[in-house]
Amino acid sequence: MKVSRRGALLAGGVGLGAAAAVGGGYVVATGDKPEPPAPPSTDGQGHLLWRNWSGVQHAYPQARLAPKDEGELALALKTAVAPIRPVGAGHSFTALAPTNGTLVSLDSLSGVVGWEGDEVIVRAGTRLGALGPALAEHGRAMANLPDINKQSLAGALATATHGTGVTLKALHGDVTALRLVTPAGKVIDCDAEREPDIFNAAKVALGSLGVVTQVRLKTTANRRLERHVWIEPLEDALAKAEARWAAHRNFEFYAVPFTGMAANISHDETDKPALPRGPDQDTAFLDALKGLRNLLGFATPVRKAAARALLGGAKPETAIDEGWKLLSTERPVRFNEMEFHLPAAVQLKALAEVVATIEKHRPDVFFPIECRRIHPDDAWLSPFQGEPRGSIAVHAYYKDDFAFLYTLIEPIFRRYGGRPHWGKLHTLAGDQLAALYPRWNDFLKVRAALDPEGRMLNPYLKGLFGV
Ligand SMILES: Cc1cc2nc3c(=O)[nH]c(=O)nc-3n(C[C@H](O)[C@H](O)[C@H](O)COP(=O)(O)OP(=O)(O)OC[C@H]3O[C@@H](n4cnc5c(N)ncnc54)[C@H](O)[C@@H]3O)c2cc1C
Repeated sequence: MKVSRRGALLAGGVGLGAAAAVGGGYVVATGDKPEPPAPPSTDGQGHLLWRNWSGVQHAYPQARLAPKDEGELALALKTAVAPIRPVGAGHSFTALAPTNGTLVSLDSLSGVVGWEGDEVIVRAGTRLGALGPALAEHGRAMANLPDINKQSLAGALATATHGTGVTLKALHGDVTALRLVTPAGKVIDCDAEREPDIFNAAKVALGSLGVVTQVRLKTTANRRLERHVWIEPLEDALAKAEARWAAHRNFEFYAVPFTGMAANISHDETDKPALPRGPDQDTAFLDALKGLRNLLGFATPVRKAAARALLGGAKPETAIDEGWKLLSTERPVRFNEMEFHLPAAVQLKALAEVVATIEKHRPDVFFPIECRRIHPDDAWLSPFQGEPRGSIAVHAYYKDDFAFLYTLIEPIFRRYGGRPHWGKLHTLAGDQLAALYPRWNDFLKVRAALDPEGRMLNPYLKGLFGV
């Protein structure tokens, strides 16, 4: 997203303007805050610190495995100290990976293994960013991508990572087979015919069944996409969103709180020549919004007027390139995040409520709120199981308090029947999740059969599964 020079100046000039803002009974500091305290780099026994991307999760695993091949992994898992937790790029916000037992990284198990027609067999530690060029060499691409491409393939699949587009499934929707090494060291190949129950459970499994080492994926022709980014009043974006989801290959929009504005992003296939995108504007845009928050957070009407002037002047942006170069972007500004997947029919109503709630109670929030649409699939723990879902993601700057996500935002999502993103902050567990997933108990049965002693479960997963 492009912002004017004026926006950048505004952002730079107001960093010190801390203010206390009162909204709906809450008193919220809106100025820039200090760095959150970092945990020690080792624990009392000398075990090294592991932290996730946002810094909100950490652990001191007593053992770390980085196997070079499946045989080494299978052998090591048999005797590994529990809890055994596979980890990818550490980009989940929930406590899926932390363990004081054994942390398993597949960074050495990456790359394309081979092709079966248009389906590619990929080692599970491959980062999405590396998969794009590897598939493009064969004229192929993943059908869709998330906002960033730093994740490992297995890590992204395990939490039902998704992009946007009414005809496009979350990433696991294109998985046609996978290989799993159980905590007992057994290697299982599964697909729709071989071990179909394990396959349906393993496509989205939070790393709780064992370690996925290899995945077979459908691919699509590597087409050029034309990307448009434009800003308009939020009421127009809300009125036109359904038609835009229907019209575009990929469409999403961001409601920018305290501005009355929205940023829209569409992607469509094209044969036009490439027009590569310029440098990412994410940091400048967010700095401008943070600057307005710091300076005017206590005075919503003035903040809105300044923001409208700033955003209203932003020029629309166009880029044309191969999809894998356009669909994911950089996210240099760190945040914590909650995202729920709601029945599509209630998504926009819920969004309006989320925006109104933030504007009433939380003047410190400045991150745009992301709205996407996802095609259904049938993996047992897929939040998109059974019907199209509309995702709403609320972000909090990493230095800011994010407890409001639980107290103010999650209740709205739950009232509308939302299912949480497995990798993003939420408080749901046990029976609450069972009520949202028709195949929940089937999943638990498969899990118990593959890991009868619960060696894959850390305290967070035990809570989640009600063990
Ligand atoms: C900046 C940012 C942007 C994001 N954008 C999006 C987005 O657009 N869409 C979206 O849906 N999500 C998004 N996410 C969330 C992210 O895609 C998920 O949390 C994803 O799971 C992270 O992948 P990872 O490789 O970092 O996995 P990790 O966070 O390291 O692990 C995630 C899960 O995968 C399991 N796992 C890892 N490797 C294996 C393995 N080999 N076998 C079995 N299980 C394994 C882990 O045990 C854990 O349960 C974003 C997150 C960040 C920080």
